[in-house]
Amino acid sequence: MQADLGAGAGRLPALVIANATVFDGSAAPRFAADVAIDGDRIQALGRPGSLRGSATIDASGLALAPGFIDVHTHDDRMLVDGGGMEPKVSQGVTTVVAGNCGISLAGLSGRGRPPQPLDLLDPAGDWFRFPTFRAYFEAFEQHPAATNAAFLAGHSTLRIAAMDDPGRAASPAECRRMCAAIDEAMEAGAIGLSTGTFYPPAAAAPTAELIELSRRLTAGGGLYVTHMRNEAEAILPAIDETLEIGRACGIGVVISHHKVAGLANHGRSVETLARIADAMQRQPVALDCYPYDASSTVLSASRLAMSSRVQVAWSTPHPECAGRDLARIAADWGVSAEVAVQRLQPAGAIYFMMDEADVQRILAFPETMVGSDGLPHDASPHPRLWGTFPRVLGHYSRDLGLFPLEVAVHKMTGLPAHRFGLHGRGVVEAGAFADLVLFDPATVADTATFEAPVQPAAGIRAVLVNGTPVWRDGQATGARPGRVLRRGARP
Ligand SMILES: [Zn+2]
Repeated sequence: MQADLGAGAGRLPALVIANATVFDGSAAPRFAADVAIDGDRIQALGRPGSLRGSATIDASGLALAPGFIDVHTHDDRMLVDGGGMEPKVSQGVTTVVAGNCGISLAGLSGRGRPPQPLDLLDPAGDWFRFPTFRAYFEAFEQHPAATNAAFLAGHSTLRIAAMDDPGRAASPAECRRMCAAIDEAMEAGAIGLSTGTFYPPAAAAPTAELIELSRRLTAGGGLYVTHMRNEAEAILPAIDETLEIGRACGIGVVISHHKVAGLANHGRSVETLARIADAMQRQPVALDCYPYDASSTVLSASRLAMSSRVQVAWSTPHPECAGRDLARIAADWGVSAEVAVQRLQPAGAIYFMMDEADVQRILAFPETMVGSDGLPHDASPHPRLWGTFPRVLGHYSRDLGLFPLEVAVHKMTGLPAHRFGLHGRGVVEAGAFADLVLFDPATVADTATFEAPVQPAAGIRAVLVNGTPVWRDGQATGARPGRVLRRGARP
């Protein structure tokens, strides 16, 4: 924490954030410091009151942390469709990982309306216009977003592009086409492969196909990131399959939005976390979760029985139903819930199907990272889109005392930067990228609710991406300093 601006520097750093309480992302105890920022980097840390800059923000009473890394997003389209990223920068998020659950925007073009769940990115299909990752990255870099982004190649997207019928195992020729697409993505700078074997376009893919494709990740150290085949009764075999793929290919695996779904499975996170903790002793395993007891994805009758309540998030033929309970819609129409589901398609929904005790147990597990799984194009989205990070900081850390604020920050900064190989991010130290969030630990809170889900968080004072402010005092600045974070890129 020594002031070290260089004896002959002769020029003040552009900005000093003075008298801050620093949470450096490592889970180490908080400390008081001045932080100098110049260009896209943190130039120095110094004792409170010791540093001078061309501009100064007095951060007395405020927390300064590395910008949050949202490890599980479906922001592929939002990043290149204006790129303002308000749901994210308003929470203090400075980097997102996109292309999750087997769904990437890149890798498919000119096929018209996509099947579920690719329609979560764009029901009309117009945005599926990037045949390669290189083409997508070029579009991003011509019109950068407000946040940084790292990308996964989506297995379901590649299957739709490579196969005439994704309802079966891929043939050798189709596997070769997908392997070539994965090679292209990795050479362009993708950080791994995501799968969503839970969903129809990939459910017929056997473990052998997943292993064959994932072998393309081994040489470059790519990650296998998965929305597993099953998060309910058969969750343990699904975890075992994920671990087997990681071992067979010698790669790290990430279990996405870990949960146990359905009333019959409440409490089973005791079993799943024990299985994961045991595997971590032998192979690299990571996991993330969002801090809510309701999930959200496409609308499907198969999930009605395991949910206590279903709320419609969007519907193409019935946009007026967004935000309404499915049971009320069905009653108004005088039909069964199953018939209402049919009439609403294509559509998305929110499912109340988890146990709060499981949510807290998974969130508090030391290796669990935070990912929003927010769906930015839903008319009435799950509140996780706008509220995930402040909810962990405010509700779970400060109000419920589930873990200290240092641990909460680590779960959304240093831990994911390490697991995803995002070098120079997720830390507050001299030389790191100046991705930073300044927030009030006494008031930080999610304000988005299931009834009113589009609400910026409270208590987020300033957010910087690569040294440039993107959010100040409740408003986006309009700046677009975000970058593509390519696999293996060094600061
Ligand atoms: Zn998913």
